[in-house]
Amino acid sequence: MQRETYVVKRSFQHWLHQRSNPGLIVNLCFIVVLVFSTLLTWREVVVLEDAYISSQRNHLETVANALDRQLQFSVDKMLFFRSSMDEALKTPLAFGVLYDAVKRFSSLRASPNWQIALDRNRTLPINGVSDAFVEKTTLLSRDEERLPAELSAALEVGYLLRLASTNTRKEERVIYVSRAGFFLATDTPARNQDISPRYYQMVTQPWFTRQSERGNRARAVRWFISPASSFIGNTPLITASVPIYFDHYWYGVLAMDFSFATMRRLLVDAMVDRAEGEYQLYDTRLNFIAASGSTTDEANQFDAREMAQIAHAVESDTRGGIRLGSRFISWERLDHFDGVVLRVHTLHEGVRGDFGSISIVLALLWALFTAMLLISWLVIRRMVSNMYTLQHSLQWQAWHDPLTRLNNRGALFERAKILAARCQQQSLPFSVIQIDLDHFKGINDRYGHQAGDKVLSHAAGLIASALRSSDVAGRVGGEEFCVVLPGLGLEEAARVAERIRSRIDGKEILVKNSTTLRVSASLGVSSAEEKDNYNFEQLQSIADARLYEAKQSGRNRVVWHDHRRK
Ligand code: GH3
Ligand code: MG
Ligand code: MG
Repeated sequence: MQRETYVVKRSFQHWLHQRSNPGLIVNLCFIVVLVFSTLLTWREVVVLEDAYISSQRNHLETVANALDRQLQFSVDKMLFFRSSMDEALKTPLAFGVLYDAVKRFSSLRASPNWQIALDRNRTLPINGVSDAFVEKTTLLSRDEERLPAELSAALEVGYLLRLASTNTRKEERVIYVSRAGFFLATDTPARNQDISPRYYQMVTQPWFTRQSERGNRARAVRWFISPASSFIGNTPLITASVPIYFDHYWYGVLAMDFSFATMRRLLVDAMVDRAEGEYQLYDTRLNFIAASGSTTDEANQFDAREMAQIAHAVESDTRGGIRLGSRFISWERLDHFDGVVLRVHTLHEGVRGDFGSISIVLALLWALFTAMLLISWLVIRRMVSNMYTLQHSLQWQAWHDPLTRLNNRGALFERAKILAARCQQQSLPFSVIQIDLDHFKGINDRYGHQAGDKVLSHAAGLIASALRSSDVAGRVGGEEFCVVLPGLGLEEAARVAERIRSRIDGKEILVKNSTTLRVSASLGVSSAEEKDNYNFEQLQSIADARLYEAKQSGRNRVVWHDHRRK
């Protein structure tokens, strides 16, 4: 077990060493940390966004539900009128007053405008048009058998309509419009001649015509926007209408009008928290009805392109949210109204809210973290690169002689042994040159130690310049050098040695201000091919012996043969 961990550790160190570009590893680590921190922050942002969207929906849902409850009240009331009407049609009251009223109708039905009022304080009067009027229009019809029951039922329910409309100021008016050429309205026309134009105007409105047998098979309450008419204050109205069917016969339509101002009041009343956000009410075709705030506020208005985006979104679902530029729009359809409530939340409002401050803190934290990461990256990068250069210079110093910049003795021996072994393996020649400067002591004595050093480094430069890149030169003693020539035989090595000798001999060296001197060297050459011996140390000692011979025989020369054989 211990051995295995050791092996793993070694192989990891080996891997690290192979790819030992520490700068690259540091970069990689920091990039990973940055990516992870950014991913984490991003994840937070996504969670925050979800929370924001659901909070927007909650706000909207509260308002939409409150508004829905208000409207449901009216819708329920209308459904109640309808069932009362059904009930009255099923079992008409056998009261004398009602009977008289029906009888009066027979005498009035031919006149263009007529009215039958029982007691104005109790029930609404019936306003009617002539037979001729009814016959002109296909949608209208006077069914003689059903008429008496319908008239008496209308008078009966008129009592409820009047009562309901005086109790609340929510609905502008409540109407029953019959197909048989008469209507009851909580705003009865003051003048008789207004009756037929009013009736005409009502039976041509979509809220009446679309409640025909084919138009509304579900018989449900439907909402319409009625254009402004001269009869009701010249402002457009929102009308909820429901058809009256009984015994498979379409009698007419019950309708309630709401003003835009009422819708706005209901919308504003529905807002529990008035702190932020604007609410807007639209019908199904996204015609604007009311807004909780001021409609002149530009932040809450939409251009045609934005409106189209909203319409597209609203079509797809009953509730949801979309972002439009810097605004967030959530919407919800109402259950008791053919329309949709929008909540408009601007970025400005968002920033002031809780989510805004959380987002800002999150962004700041991320920026702070990233800045700190960047700074530590810079510091570590600098440290690593410093260590890298330090390591390199230490390594260089361990292997080189600082004065001549050649290999030092230890490095030369190590490299020479490796080269010798390789040449032996590949059966290549291998030669060694040993060099010693002549009368060097004298230079030191005459010109000083510093001048001697200068000569040394100059001679080293000359030696190095005479070699190939595969050759290795080193300083093996005070003024002694050794050159290793892999792949060169004795004669070639002797030529190299001669080249070195002549270069050293040929140069004048400037040692002090204007003092130049000449120096020479004696060289001994040996080669592995002579005795098929690749032992570097032995080759070097042979070369040294020949160097000694060169000294003996007058210096400044190369010796590459043994003259005196033992
Ligand atoms: P030859 O080799 O021609 O017989 O005479 P030599 O004067 O060169 O004799 P020897 O090899 O005995 O002398 C070597 C001298 O080199 C001794 C020492 O003062 C000098 N020397 C050794 N190392 C250094 C060095 O690093 N700098 C300097 N300036 N002199 C050195
Ligand atoms: Mg010498
Ligand atoms: Mg010497």
